[in-house]
Amino acid sequence: MNQITVLIVGAGPVGLTLACELARRKVPFRIVERLAEPPRGSRAKALQPRSLEVFNDLGIAEELMKMGWTDLPFRKFNGSQLIGDSPRSVFAREDTRYPKTLLLPQWKVEDSLRGKLGELGGTIEWSTELTDVSHTDGGVMCRLERAGFVEEVACRYMVACDGGKSSTRKKLGINFVGETRQQEQLWVGDVEVEGLTPDAWYNWLGSKFGIAFALFPFKDTRIWQLQAVMLPDEEGNVPTPTLEGFNELFKERTQMEGVRFTNSTWQSIYRVNIRRAERYRVGNAFIAGDAGHVHSIAGGMGMNTGIQDAYNLGWKLAAVVHGQAGDGLLDTYGEERIPIADWLLAATSERQKAMMAAAATGKAGFETLATQDTTQLNLNYRDSSLSVGGADVELRAGELSAGAGLRAGDRAPDVRLVGGGWLSDRLKGPEWKLLVFGGVSADVDEGVNVVQVGDEAIVKAYGVDRGVVLIRPDGYVALVGDSVRDYFKGL
Ligand SMILES: Cc1cc2nc3c(=O)[nH]c(=O)nc-3n(C[C@H](O)[C@H](O)[C@H](O)COP(=O)(O)OP(=O)(O)OC[C@H]3O[C@@H](n4cnc5c(N)ncnc54)[C@H](O)[C@@H]3O)c2cc1C
Repeated sequence: MNQITVLIVGAGPVGLTLACELARRKVPFRIVERLAEPPRGSRAKALQPRSLEVFNDLGIAEELMKMGWTDLPFRKFNGSQLIGDSPRSVFAREDTRYPKTLLLPQWKVEDSLRGKLGELGGTIEWSTELTDVSHTDGGVMCRLERAGFVEEVACRYMVACDGGKSSTRKKLGINFVGETRQQEQLWVGDVEVEGLTPDAWYNWLGSKFGIAFALFPFKDTRIWQLQAVMLPDEEGNVPTPTLEGFNELFKERTQMEGVRFTNSTWQSIYRVNIRRAERYRVGNAFIAGDAGHVHSIAGGMGMNTGIQDAYNLGWKLAAVVHGQAGDGLLDTYGEERIPIADWLLAATSERQKAMMAAAATGKAGFETLATQDTTQLNLNYRDSSLSVGGADVELRAGELSAGAGLRAGDRAPDVRLVGGGWLSDRLKGPEWKLLVFGGVSADVDEGVNVVQVGDEAIVKAYGVDRGVVLIRPDGYVALVGDSVRDYFKGL
């Protein structure tokens, strides 16, 4: 019987992020994927500022920044009539080096993650499907099937990152609570476009469909993503999308001459489901990403939230596997991430409603799609059992850089240093970090990256001039106080 410390099921963006997190912490793992090769459909196109910070820590943000757009305008039409362009929303905040959402196809994100995983020595097992799972004393028994061969593996931990239709979630008996909005369906696909310049995100708005047609060009490729709202028949069905269908629908809805789609590499139907798994852990099995939450694509946060699930779970699994923390640390994964999923479902439903209402009157623009919230920089774990201390001041969006009261659970703000560079350059890597202000004693064991703060910009941004700020491996403040000794005993 083969033994594995951690089995990751699914090599989408979430499974890949988790694999990188485990690989760089030297946790033995396997990652299996039932597809024979990577999917090419563009799907997610928004990489949010918080995910860019996560990828900066993993060392792939800069290469991704070159592959996408941050300033593409939103071009609106009413039928064939141009209404005009509106610029992308940008939130002027100084506490991040990535204030802008990056627009690029999901397969580029997955390509970069696979490249990083390869560098770290990880290998994806393609054409390998998890077909059964059961609990054992202190572990999970998994059946893997590949080309007719069956392998039983005893895993200490298993993480299902197998997408919204997760069969593993069902096998674990975890309910996926929520609703399917049969009336809200889209045709989506990838096409090449003749007759339009790839210098904007094109949207044809109108009262009947809201967004009657949308086309988004990807940088340095010939591919555009296409989306069109479809009205289902009485049984809730919409026709199967084809290249011919895309061309006909565009003509019918926009009346524009001279535009033609060719070479479609992906066609799909997207149905809005709004659901959340009732729990994220059963025994030693966990779920992450779309397996745990699905919702409207408005606001572009599904993949991003999944990446951040993996970033939350990765360091915790490593700490438990390496004997640095008790198993209870793993319960904080659901404790911290389920409230974020609840926020996500509500925020995306709200965004969807606002977008459709604005589109129906020809007013939609980035302001209805992208807000401070969708950057995901303001998400926090203040109510987590891992968060201790800090100022008793209510934080408002964007205030951190002004030195408003930092509290445990907040995302550790990044700071542009007076002497050049960013604080995040000094905080990169899988360890805990301790910022020491005013030369107090840094009473920590080896393995904590201690940074003596001398830079005025950090003092100002953190609002602390004497004491310590302990930052978790995933970049959230664990403790604001005088000493960290008791904190680590608690773990
Ligand atoms: C049109 C569209 C636009 C979107 N736009 C955005 C956006 O702008 N921003 C955003 O953040 N999100 C967006 N999303 C959502 C985003 O695509 C998903 O949230 C993301 O793919 C979820 O990643 P994941 O790794 O959890 O799951 P997936 O990407 O679904 O990956 C799961 C993987 O698991 C594999 N698998 C499944 N079952 C098994 C098994 N039993 N054994 C082995 N392998 C298995 C699958 O083959 C798959 O490769 C969009 C989605 C669509 C369709």
